[in-house]
Amino acid sequence: SGVLYIVATPIGNLEDITQRALNIFQQVDLIAAEDTRHSGLLLSHYGIKKPFFALHDHNEQQKAAVLVEKLQQGQNIALVSDAGTPLISDPGFHLVRHCRQAGIKIVPIPGACAAITALCSSGIASDRFCFEGFLPAKTKARCDKLAALLDEPRTLIFYESTHRILDTLADMQQVFGGERYIVMAREITKTWETIYGASLNELIAWLAEDSNRIKGEIVLVVEGKTAESSDDEISPQALKLFTLLAQELP
Ligand code: SAM
Repeated sequence: SGVLYIVATPIGNLEDITQRALNIFQQVDLIAAEDTRHSGLLLSHYGIKKPFFALHDHNEQQKAAVLVEKLQQGQNIALVSDAGTPLISDPGFHLVRHCRQAGIKIVPIPGACAAITALCSSGIASDRFCFEGFLPAKTKARCDKLAALLDEPRTLIFYESTHRILDTLADMQQVFGGERYIVMAREITKTWETIYGASLNELIAWLAEDSNRIKGEIVLVVEGKTAESSDDEISPQALKLFTLLAQELP
């Protein structure tokens, strides 16, 4: 049977394509893409013309079966998304799972990913982190999700859109407190690339000064709960211990 290649594409700057990605595009029979027009334009920039196959979030389950059949017939297929790494807040999971169950060879072709690129430039702990993707669109669900992450000590990474960024930051300020440190990475690798780190209070004030500052694509990197940020609370166990110790003191 054929091979399924999972190919990362740039997240803005077209120079961020790998040599290997270009070679694979030349070799495959078919390119499975989220938006075939968008990917067609991207690939024509590199001088590549190939048949496309549409694979969206809403039709992936059925379409994956069709692609598995094509792979079983010996076709080689490259999976791409609109930008960055497929499957990372993008379609592809069902296809990859299907292929793995069917014993089809899967070859990843790594490249750009907005979450990792933002994390690496944030100056926030990068040894352990949680990728949370997009938060829910509705305030109540978003606040519930944030509340569940309140005590998470690992760095948190979120994707956000220009339309929701101010609401999301307001909810984070309410749930995490205004002193929590955050880095907002906007338009990474593009003309208006801006990577700004501050407390939630300061970031919200900075964004209010100029509406251009929320434009474009955004990654939020939030510092996890630190010992420092939690020392305003004394755990019941610690309190009990202090009381016992105090009784022993002269
Ligand atoms: N698969 C992609 C990846 O590997 O990063 C992510 C796709 S997701 C549908 C799109 C979101 O990724 C955007 O809303 C934004 O949060 C983030 N993103 C993508 N490109 C970006 C860029 N150049 N700068 C900042 N964020 C970006």
